[in-house]
Amino acid sequence: MTPLETLLIRRITATGPITLADYMADCLLHPEHGYYTTRPPFGAEGDFTTAPEISQMFGELVGLALAQSWLDQGAPAFTLAEIGPGRGTLMADILRATRGVPGFHDAARVVLVEASPRLRALQEKALAGHPVAWCDTVEALPDTPLWLVANEFFDALPIRQFTRAGDGWAETMVGAQGDALVFGRAAPTSLATLAHRLADTTEGEVVELCPAAAGVMRTIAQRLTRHGGAALIIDYGSGPSRGDTFQAVRGQAFADPLATPGQADLTAHVDFAALAAAARPCATLLTEQGAFLSRLGIAPRSARLAASLTDTALENHLAATRRLTDPAEMGSVFKVLALHAPGTPPPPGMTDA
Ligand code: SAH
Repeated sequence: MTPLETLLIRRITATGPITLADYMADCLLHPEHGYYTTRPPFGAEGDFTTAPEISQMFGELVGLALAQSWLDQGAPAFTLAEIGPGRGTLMADILRATRGVPGFHDAARVVLVEASPRLRALQEKALAGHPVAWCDTVEALPDTPLWLVANEFFDALPIRQFTRAGDGWAETMVGAQGDALVFGRAAPTSLATLAHRLADTTEGEVVELCPAAAGVMRTIAQRLTRHGGAALIIDYGSGPSRGDTFQAVRGQAFADPLATPGQADLTAHVDFAALAAAARPCATLLTEQGAFLSRLGIAPRSARLAASLTDTALENHLAATRRLTDPAEMGSVFKVLALHAPGTPPPPGMTDA
């Protein structure tokens, strides 16, 4: 039994079952026992690998797309922000790739939104040599023009899950049975936030809500509307939410989400329809990651890097290129949504509705 499991069972026995959102929040960010607060989640030694950890090309192309968007909007002084920067690899690649963009670094103030003190320390190391500030929430970002990126951040935000029952919804709960955590369902209630889903779901269907995501999107859209800027949101999912997507990954394999609380990564597919709705009128159309990276020139960039590689290094590089772009790997299940200030062009690789 993990230490967090003991705490959760004690709490549930005393005060009753908890929502998936409460369970996820504790598992990921509990100050002493949370996954992001205690473990090195990504890269070779971690439980899963993310796009920036797969290849430097990801951060380079994202960085150049942000820089082009910044030039398109008149190159103002701005906040260059990342939400959920993990090991800091993506921001390091963005900063390296944009060194040659005249004025970009001088105009940028780099701010990272990160909840885990442990990951802040890794980010500080990865970005040594660059002045960087941290904040806890998107609301706390400086009130300035903003260019922002988030990769695999929204999938880590706590979700609530509901099963359709008549015109009501039964919420998935985490309860305790003896010394084990178990899933259960609350009695159905009607929910204003899911009223619009009565039209496109049937009895027994499962939908998920990510209550924190809409607030984050609204805050970013307000900044962009007020001061200018753009954001690239990259994650796996599509939308509207349909089916149970709550999952755990441990040691590079899927695991039971209730088995080892605090020691497995917990995620859910991102409902990009909900994200875009919260960010109107700033949101672009959703694009697959493979198509986005192709439009930004990943093929010539990959060929250029390949030219100086041989043997295993070359094979690894070609495999990484495929992994990022191939529809059978990350190319299709991962999507990109951009936000940009109304009246400005969308960032390169993205199109408006
Ligand atoms: N973007 C990185 C890491 C993704 S993992 C990459 O692509 O490799 C999710 C990141 O979001 C971690 O850095 C985690 O600590 C952070 N995070 C999760 N929930 C958060 C929250 N509520 N507020 C701020 N950061 C959060």
